[in-house]
Amino acid sequence: MIGRRLGGGNRPVGSPAVGAALDRLGVGHPGGYTHEIVFRRCPACGERNIVRDGDFTCALCDGDLPAEWNVDEVAGRGHG
Ligand SMILES: [Zn+2]
Repeated sequence: MIGRRLGGGNRPVGSPAVGAALDRLGVGHPGGYTHEIVFRRCPACGERNIVRDGDFTCALCDGDLPAEWNVDEVAGRGHG
């Protein structure tokens, strides 16, 4: 089955409002969030996607991404 979503509203993460709020609070934000980024390689087209909010959908071909995939581990991991 092909789980296709209607209305692709992919908005970029990181609104200027949040940045401004953090800046007002004086919180150091190194241009990114500390959320765990999950990578999935699309079995259909081979494109590497970033899974966010549990959205396992290829951004290139809208294919289904595997729920569990051991993509090549990121080199230089901390304690593991
Ligand atoms: Zn794909």
